[in-house]
Amino acid sequence: MSEEIIKVDPHEETICCDGGEDSLGHPAVYYTFNNEDKIVCNYCGKTFIKNKE
Ligand SMILES: [Zn+2]
Repeated sequence: MSEEIIKVDPHEETICCDGGEDSLGHPAVYYTFNNEDKIVCNYCGKTFIKNKE
């Protein structure tokens, strides 16, 4: 499973992952940060990190 890191706007509380444009596509799922700054998609393993600056 490839690890891909996606920077998310720090104001976003919910993200949607559908696996992206490559062959790893999967049904769209939504995740909420819930005070975390990192989410790993259970389907494709993509990592979403809040882009704090
Ligand atoms: Zn995904």
